[in-house]
Amino acid sequence: MGAAAVMAEERSSAAGAGPGWGRDVPGWAAVAAFVSTGLLLLGAFLLILNLARLTEARRLVNITVEVLEATRTVIVGVVNAETGQRGFLLTGEERYLGPFQEASGHIWEDLATLERRLQFPDQQQRLRRVRPLIEAKLAELSYTVALRRRSLDEALAVVRTDEGQHLVELIRSGLGEVEARAREILAERTLLQERHARRATILALVCAALALVSAGFGTILVLRRREERKLVEQNLRLERLVHERTTNLEEANAELEAYAATISHDLRTPVRAIGGYAAALEEDAGPCLGPEQHRYLGRIVDASERMDRLIEDILGYSRLAGQDLTTGRVPLESAVDAALAAHHAEIAVAGARLEVVRPLPAVRAHAGALELAVGNLISNAVKFTVPGQAADIKIWSEQRGGMVRLWVEDRGIGIGPEHRERIFRPFERLHGREAYPGTGVGLAIVRRVAERMSGRCGVTSELGTGSQFWIELPEGG
Ligand code: ADP
Repeated sequence: MGAAAVMAEERSSAAGAGPGWGRDVPGWAAVAAFVSTGLLLLGAFLLILNLARLTEARRLVNITVEVLEATRTVIVGVVNAETGQRGFLLTGEERYLGPFQEASGHIWEDLATLERRLQFPDQQQRLRRVRPLIEAKLAELSYTVALRRRSLDEALAVVRTDEGQHLVELIRSGLGEVEARAREILAERTLLQERHARRATILALVCAALALVSAGFGTILVLRRREERKLVEQNLRLERLVHERTTNLEEANAELEAYAATISHDLRTPVRAIGGYAAALEEDAGPCLGPEQHRYLGRIVDASERMDRLIEDILGYSRLAGQDLTTGRVPLESAVDAALAAHHAEIAVAGARLEVVRPLPAVRAHAGALELAVGNLISNAVKFTVPGQAADIKIWSEQRGGMVRLWVEDRGIGIGPEHRERIFRPFERLHGREAYPGTGVGLAIVRRVAERMSGRCGVTSELGTGSQFWIELPEGG
């Protein structure tokens, strides 16, 4: 599978990884999840507080109910004791004394229970008022029982005084007050309990709603995280793939360069031999040859020389790929001067006019490679002139941020906009060899030199008016 296919597949699987919204969910989802979780915690705290209050209210209601029950038990005890006493008074039968004694025996225990249940001082006060009345009543009952054993009439005489009846009414009314107040307290406490229960229900509902909301936002966030992680993994996979492919390409390129260098190097010997033997033949057998044969031999020599130049350029271009181009501070003036000196003969033959705008700053470069690149630009400026016109060349520089741009300008034939990029590729030529000789490798060398020294190059040109080639490199400090 090709890299493009793999990448397309990765892209499509990324698109299908989940609903599109996962990537677009804005930060408010996180904020909403955070806020709703905070509110949920607050609600849960209030709910727990309220449940504690509800439990307390319930406990108080129960206590009050117990007070009511205990009050009733005491009243029933007094009534039972009196009923037992009456039975005995009327019949004189001992069996009626059983309930009487049982009731009078329990009354103090029941009274103590009631006393323990009472929480309010006013209630305790009321009960304290009733206690002596009960004591008196029980004493009256015991007294009449004792009298009855002696004489019915004496006992009835005591009963007829209505003192006992009066005591019962006082006890009933005293305990009735305790009971009435207990009912009031019960009503208040029941109301409070209901209020707490209602509040707890509302809080529980709110907490449930908040739990749902925060769970919803939490789910969105989790899905989003998962999708982001998936995207990161896919990106990493793609990066690894690209790196792998780049390494493979670089290796293949290096192999090709080495192959080209070897072939070029090996080709040189036979090419030079052909040229040399043709020249020797011309020299030795010259007088015996006709004009046609002379022309053929001339062509062989020319072709072999052209081939030699081409091989030399290819070798130079290949060498630049593997060569160590350690950079240092190089004054542009010395690089330009060295290049001009190297191309002195061409410039002189062409009668070119030349202007160098000095001073030129220093750059970070490899001196030899920079001279080679500048020399190629000068050589082209000298070569690509309008027929019949001498070359007019201007060299100057400009600072651009931390970079220096060196310009080589000519008033030659110019380049159409559609060709300005491709002429920097090896063997790209715009003209026939007869009109403008060359190998088509010069600008490719310029680009490779610039890029290997952390720079770049380019051209602005107008067809028929001239070209401005530039090479940009880091400042030399
Ligand atoms: P060569 O000069 O050997 O042909 P180059 O790589 O130096 O190869 O240039 C590639 C092509 O770019 C040239 O063949 C020419 O068509 C065009 N070119 C380069 N320099 C100039 C220039 N100064 N003016 C016009 N055309 C140019």
